[in-house]
Amino acid sequence: MPNGYMGKILWVNLSDETFKEEELSDEIYRQFLGGYGLATKLIYENMPAKVDALSPDAILGFFPGLLTGTVSPLSGRFMVAGKSPLTGTWGDANCGGYFGPQVRKCGYDAILVKGAASNPKIVAIIDGDKQILDASDLWGLDAVQTEDKLAEKYGRVQVASIGQSGEKLSLISGIVNDKARLAGRSGFGAIMGSKKLKAIVLKGNKDISVADKDSLLNLTKEYNDAIAKGGGLVTGFKTFGTTMGNTYCAQTGDTPIKNWGGTATEDFPAERYNKLAGTEINKYREKPYGCFSCPVRCGSIMKVPELGLEETHRPEYETCASFGHLLLNDDLMSIFTINDLCNRAGIDTISAGGSAAFAIECYENGILTKDDTDGLELTWGNSTAIIELVKKMINREGFGDLLADGCKKASEKIGKGSEKYAITSMGQELGMHSPKVFRTLGASFAFDPTPGRHTTATLDMYVSGPISKPNGLFEGFALPKKYKRPGDDRSEAEKLVAGLHQATSSIGLCNFIYSFQKYPLLELIKAVVGWDMTIDELVKTGLRIQTLRHSFSLREGINIIGNKLPERVVGVDYLEDYKAYCGKMGWNPDNAYPLKETLTDLHLDFVIKDLY
Ligand code: SF4
Repeated sequence: MPNGYMGKILWVNLSDETFKEEELSDEIYRQFLGGYGLATKLIYENMPAKVDALSPDAILGFFPGLLTGTVSPLSGRFMVAGKSPLTGTWGDANCGGYFGPQVRKCGYDAILVKGAASNPKIVAIIDGDKQILDASDLWGLDAVQTEDKLAEKYGRVQVASIGQSGEKLSLISGIVNDKARLAGRSGFGAIMGSKKLKAIVLKGNKDISVADKDSLLNLTKEYNDAIAKGGGLVTGFKTFGTTMGNTYCAQTGDTPIKNWGGTATEDFPAERYNKLAGTEINKYREKPYGCFSCPVRCGSIMKVPELGLEETHRPEYETCASFGHLLLNDDLMSIFTINDLCNRAGIDTISAGGSAAFAIECYENGILTKDDTDGLELTWGNSTAIIELVKKMINREGFGDLLADGCKKASEKIGKGSEKYAITSMGQELGMHSPKVFRTLGASFAFDPTPGRHTTATLDMYVSGPISKPNGLFEGFALPKKYKRPGDDRSEAEKLVAGLHQATSSIGLCNFIYSFQKYPLLELIKAVVGWDMTIDELVKTGLRIQTLRHSFSLREGINIIGNKLPERVVGVDYLEDYKAYCGKMGWNPDNAYPLKETLTDLHLDFVIKDLY
């Protein structure tokens, strides 16, 4: 067995109920790492172009990162990948918890599902025994109930499942593990629902062979000891998690207010957003929660007696912002309720909040009335109505059915000028950060292969403000000196960050490593896999992955360079930014097609026949 990875993947065909193992060459791992890097290669080559994302021919994959399952700090992430049924582009969604390492424990570097069952099924891989089993008794349950039932049957297992939203093919539904961690973006819950796949259940006992165990343990100890000392952002993350942003991001103008049309100063001032502060939320904190191999543990388990919630996860900043600031809602209890409802149903809180914001603005402007909303008075900040709306979206009930596929689709049905209130990129509601604060976010929202995402590579989020410092974070990595000014250096910096981000994600690292101290990335790769990798090779690998993600969407016939963001979101010429970035990436700035020589240089020759 190779070091660092298992060397094989598992194909599950739900149509004929078969399993097939496939061994991959060492070269594939070196060129695509793991996570969604490996996914780009496998899904691009195995899924024909223009397949309906909700058809049996669509492939949905679960990919732990290259280091996932080892003790390497903050490396426990996994990615779900496929064609997004929401945007029609390449899709991936990143998630923490304990499911990713368990894929490795079962002996695989990925589990890819194709075909479709006619009745509800689970895929169970328990102690080496692989089965596709009836799940009629689970269909209709939420994700927490599903995990509990499967734990009753199998004991301590790791589960990725869909709740009611995925079952009902909501295009803004995600996949849930650890009862509340969501691979939320891209609409992948709907793909599981279309395949009638309720859950994947894993329990394995395979070990990952590593090249140099002593070195791995020493590097890990050194990093974790420094984290244990705390200070600065480490302490902030440990104490408040992402809810640190609930007040800070509102103060800086980063958090979108009133469906991106307002300001904190005028519409949602400090006396209101302070009610959503991390300090208020932490009054209900019971104990910390963290992903596998993470010394930071930025999550929390909470108890909210007022709501009868005995055990629930702390809402993330994105959830607080999308159901708080975005809707002018300062009712913290409603945020706890909605967070729990959404996690159980497996619906993406960013998209659900964005869709609620759309509905409220339509209502406030007379485009919708109580006759349309099943009697709900959808005014800004009406938390009672917002909770009812979320329940309707989850169950596709009445007016909620209209919103369950996101606000762009809803606006197409409603018409009457409602389109201008649908704040999405290609149908995906935008993450809760503003391109007016982080300029390069404009191009990322518009043109990343997974549009609308705030967790893609975007230079300004890495280098401005406190959540930022790739320079010096990894041995040998440095941005050009003048990266803050428009021009050549800045575009070069955008390219470097794009490559670095794809690589660290595909390795399974949490995005928050960029907020902490120097990370021994190359040393860990050497200790685990045995590769002597340079930072240049790593960045180039990331550029290969980014180019293939992008090429997937081009092959689908999507002219992403023609995409436009809603005007109220941006204040910069993001198209010009993108064209300069394309030039640096070796893509044609006029149409964003990767040049043939670029594809050859990145060992992506197999793409040329599809694009030319
Ligand atoms: S910092 Fe938070 S999100 Fe990241 S790996 Fe640790 S616990 Fe998970």
